[in-house]
Amino acid sequence: MMNTPISEQEILDFLTGIEEGKIILIPKHEPQHIYAGNVSYRASNNWTIVIFNDANEWDYIDCIKTDNGRKIDFNQIELLPVVGKYYPSAEVSWTRYGIPGYCKFRCTKCGSLIQASKESIYICQQCERSPSSRNLNIL
Ligand SMILES: [Zn+2]
Repeated sequence: MMNTPISEQEILDFLTGIEEGKIILIPKHEPQHIYAGNVSYRASNNWTIVIFNDANEWDYIDCIKTDNGRKIDFNQIELLPVVGKYYPSAEVSWTRYGIPGYCKFRCTKCGSLIQASKESIYICQQCERSPSSRNLNIL
């Protein structure tokens, strides 16, 4: 309550940093395994962001928490004129958030489309055969 709120500009800078790859997100759990629900990410600037994943589609920001404990939730975020309407491109959604697109599954190494896997392993057969292949993140 005594916290200074996070400004919209700070959030925009954060989202832009993610888009540009200056801020790296590490999901707590594989987003494709969550498939429908909240995906929590630890950002390299020590912030936390939670994205609602709707059938592997980036849907909305559920909440953002800064490194010094300030927090903003969906209810407040959706009222912001710019951030409230923010959507990443399909490419950003995949390469930065690891969210592959509506009802899709992708190989986490090469980005090619794959079938949903029972074992929750998101690697295509080709990458499975060549474990040395680099993470190219090709769409
Ligand atoms: Zn692959």
